Amino acid sequence: MSQAELEQVRLRFPYMFCGDQSRVDVAPGWVRVFKQACVEIDAILGDDKRGFHWTEAKEKAGFARFRGKLVFDGRTMPGVGRDLTPAEADLVELVTAARHKAEDATKTVCNVCGDHLPQRETDGGYERLCALHAVTRTKKDESNRP
Ligand SMILES: [Zn+2]
Repeated sequence: MSQAELEQVRLRFPYMFCGDQSRVDVAPGWVRVFKQACVEIDAILGDDKRGFHWTEAKEKAGFARFRGKLVFDGRTMPGVGRDLTPAEADLVELVTAARHKAEDATKTVCNVCGDHLPQRETDGGYERLCALHAVTRTKKDESNRP
């Protein structure tokens, strides 16, 4: 289900998936959150997409990191080499806020099935699996032990 859903997102917003996509990997349960971020960022950008594209999507410490870049005058942000105009700075801020909102949302969603979790923070970060998948994974881990 989710890989097909991710493919739909790619087809709907092809510009977001240009360039090196080797580090863009969205966990199945998080595709819906990622898709919502794409929809929101597309709306923020409006007609001029500013070369926005994803550069990284991964799981770290139990929640997703979604990183993307905007392109100004042919150069990616950060590192434009000139001051951004106020309008450009606003755009960067809005896109960053949308990314962070999506990252936060993954803290309460199982990254396998997409179920919402009661929650959550553990010593090592965030619990990212629902009860069902936490149990499944624990059993599997145990059976793999020599
Ligand atoms: Zn689950």
